[in-house]
Amino acid sequence: MEHYRSLKTLQQDLLTKKISVSTFTHQTISNISSNKHLNAFVEVFEESALASAKIIDEKIQNGQPLGKLFGLTIAIKDNIVYKNHRATGASKILEGFISPYSATVVERLLEEDAIIIGSTNCDEFAMGGSNENSYYGAVLNPHDTTRVSGGSSGGSAVAVAANLCLAALGSDTGGSIRQPASFCGIVGLKPTYGRVSRYGLMAYGSSFDQIGTFTHNIEDAALILEIFSGKDDYDATCSPRKVPEFSKQLSTDKKYKIAYYKNALTHQGVDEEVSNACHQFIEKMKMEGHVVDAIEFDELEYIVPAYYVLTTAEASSNLSRYDGVKYGYRADDASDLESTYKKTRTQGFGKEVQRRIMSGTFVLSAGYYDAYYAKAQKVRRIVAEKTYKTLEDYDFILCPTAPTPAYKIGEVQDSVASFLGDIFTVQANMAGIPGISLPLFRTTEGLPIGIQLMTARWKEEKLLAFSQHLLQKFELQ
Ligand code: GLN
Repeated sequence: MEHYRSLKTLQQDLLTKKISVSTFTHQTISNISSNKHLNAFVEVFEESALASAKIIDEKIQNGQPLGKLFGLTIAIKDNIVYKNHRATGASKILEGFISPYSATVVERLLEEDAIIIGSTNCDEFAMGGSNENSYYGAVLNPHDTTRVSGGSSGGSAVAVAANLCLAALGSDTGGSIRQPASFCGIVGLKPTYGRVSRYGLMAYGSSFDQIGTFTHNIEDAALILEIFSGKDDYDATCSPRKVPEFSKQLSTDKKYKIAYYKNALTHQGVDEEVSNACHQFIEKMKMEGHVVDAIEFDELEYIVPAYYVLTTAEASSNLSRYDGVKYGYRADDASDLESTYKKTRTQGFGKEVQRRIMSGTFVLSAGYYDAYYAKAQKVRRIVAEKTYKTLEDYDFILCPTAPTPAYKIGEVQDSVASFLGDIFTVQANMAGIPGISLPLFRTTEGLPIGIQLMTARWKEEKLLAFSQHLLQKFELQ
């Protein structure tokens, strides 16, 4: 089967009848099934995907108007709901849950004739950075199946990287799109907080969470973003501002001002090849005539602790809805309301989720609130203000996406060590700014290394246009 890596190419072949949407969808499904060992999908929505494909084929046949995404096979992270389909957030506690409604993003994709091909594996309720915290087990990295996919949206990253679909949705609370995109060698985009509706996304840290995309290229990311962004009456944090046509503004030959943090590249946890890749990138940018400055970022050491205080606090509240009464799994050895709560939550939540709920409850508790939660809020404000100030002077902040390439499955055992892997991604969520990971480098062993660019809020058009330029200049694949 021919692997399509761009929607434009697929759509040309569909319009010239080189292939039908149904045939393509069938091929995609059988390809997913022959790559089951990667563990990228939780479920393939075979019936509804083939039904959508048939309708689109009829439209093509009859010359009827087609949606902008016609034929796009797109997977959704298992924490995004689709009406009448299962969604579990990769947690046992949602076993058997079938969603009575669709997320706004899913509705908007379907309106444009996309095909929702299935749900993808992830860390339980998006808590993790390696996909090893999933009820369904780890996802294997297609570049080296002994290594992790990254996380939490590991299944979505692998689904795209292994050509099991053209695009996938993920959620990014502290790096869950950008980091697995970096580990898997594809494009991962986290939009501005408030750009995309979170209605229908299982909440983790509501003031951080944002839905975004995994794609092979920038055109597809831009098109999907412009389609699913914008005002939604079901999410008050979703901005009513007009959504630009990102996909039509992808060319740029401007000279930009780029900042990078000196201490980021010399940080002890940063792999040498990752730091070399950044230095190489910086040199190329300078040679192209961009201004690249090293600046200070003294708060680098504080952002991960502050992030974990704030997100676990929010999670402890958000996850209280899973109690064995309203959704999914219920312990059958419980005898009254309290034991139902206790046993269901003990049996239904995995260890990492339990730890986070407990630490979130702790940092919010009466005696510790000021020392932890209130303090972390102050750190967040300082980081955000500093970020906005930097982005008044510079077009982009440049960083590695992750300190290392994909590590071995089982290699990082304790959660605190894994938290340090988020050091370069959480800033964008703390400040609500957009960030993208671009697959620009490889290690000598051939593992992908992502370069991350961040820009000011609502400036995705600039971020996407420059990313397009970079991928065209540097692309390795
Ligand atoms: N690794 C981070 C965490 O575990 C980020 C997760 C995410 O972005 N959903 O919180």
